[in-house]
Amino acid sequence: MLFSLDAHSLIFAGGVSAFMTMLAMVAARRGFPDSIAGLELWGAGSCAQAAGALVLSFRAVLPDFIPALTGPSLLVLGQALMLHAIRRFHGDRFRPELIYTPPAVMLAGAAFFFFALDLMNVRAAIYSATSFVPLVLSMHLLATGFRERLRAPARLAAAAFGMVALLLLYQALHSIVLEIGMLDARNFSYVLFVALYGGLNVLATFGFLLMANEKLRAEIDRMATLDSLTEVFNRRTFVKLAEVELARAARTGSKASVVFLDMDGFKSINDSHGHAVGDRILLEFVGCTRGVLRRQDVFGRFGGEEFCLLLPETGIEEAVHAAERVRSAIENVEIRFDGLSVRCTVSAGVSGTELHGTDFARMLRGADEALYKAKRNGRNRVESDALPQSAS
Ligand code: GH3
Ligand code: MG
Ligand code: MG
Repeated sequence: MLFSLDAHSLIFAGGVSAFMTMLAMVAARRGFPDSIAGLELWGAGSCAQAAGALVLSFRAVLPDFIPALTGPSLLVLGQALMLHAIRRFHGDRFRPELIYTPPAVMLAGAAFFFFALDLMNVRAAIYSATSFVPLVLSMHLLATGFRERLRAPARLAAAAFGMVALLLLYQALHSIVLEIGMLDARNFSYVLFVALYGGLNVLATFGFLLMANEKLRAEIDRMATLDSLTEVFNRRTFVKLAEVELARAARTGSKASVVFLDMDGFKSINDSHGHAVGDRILLEFVGCTRGVLRRQDVFGRFGGEEFCLLLPETGIEEAVHAAERVRSAIENVEIRFDGLSVRCTVSAGVSGTELHGTDFARMLRGADEALYKAKRNGRNRVESDALPQSAS
């Protein structure tokens, strides 16, 4: 049964399937945001491979030199475009030589070993060698360049390309050792080669589409959990994480504290310097605060110029010291903008489990009251709802 398969028909079917892949990529491109790059390049690669396969499948009716020169060159171009698609997806810079060199070498080699010396097996070996370079570079990037949830689909695509590379190696050895281009041999190997080559490319495409999908999901998760300007947790996520920490504190009997932070006179900074300067100050503030925090501390933006910290395993007194470090860090920052130098301060209110148990709402209310005390007492200071004296 297998031996009755005709390889030219299979190449034709492979070409049609590559063409369909290109259409799928065009459709996918429209559905994904621009931040997910490379889909159109992968589609272009499939298009080049479709054209190469179709030219090869019509070799019986075309002048010999057309399929001999353009068929393998287009297949190699397709592979090089897919490498570029993966590089763009990964955020790597454009390197045109990686796209043009392999098909140009293939074309030059095919032309020489067609017109000067007609050696089909050497052309077949050059085809393997020139495809091998973009394939191996693609595999390397796929296998090593993606982490977390992108790792599994990237490895699927890497494995598919790895198997294509093995096929090409076999093809090259076949051409050199047996001195006959396998693509010219009307045998079982040829049929198997063509069927696997087409199938593995479809598998690699699935892997790439899954990578795009995972990247999109990761972006959506990020948007749902982080504040878009400062990239600290948004209020909803902060509250959720704070409650997890407090539940842990309740179980283990450890302390935890909350610090409520509010920039001083922020409205007048915006009014006199503009919103862009205000945004820069918020980013500086987040940078300074992060520098003071420990890994386990939870940091969120509650809204506007208000931020909140949940400090696990920290009593109120220690939390007042931490808040004081944040206060003094931002006080010493000078933000330069269009020749202007702007300074800014923050007030903080501290509360903790020592006073309110592990009820987050009560802790927050306590910290808010302490913050108002800090504002009333002149701003740029830290107050706690337990300690009567200010820490600054
Ligand atoms: P106080 O010392 O009493 O806290 O005074 P304040 O001016 O900081 O207080 P108020 O709450 O009246 O003003 C907060 C201002 O923060 C109002 C708003 O213009 C500004 N703001 C809120 N969100 C943003 C933001 O994302 N970017 C910028 N630039 N400003 C913001
Ligand atoms: Mg405010
Ligand atoms: Mg304020």
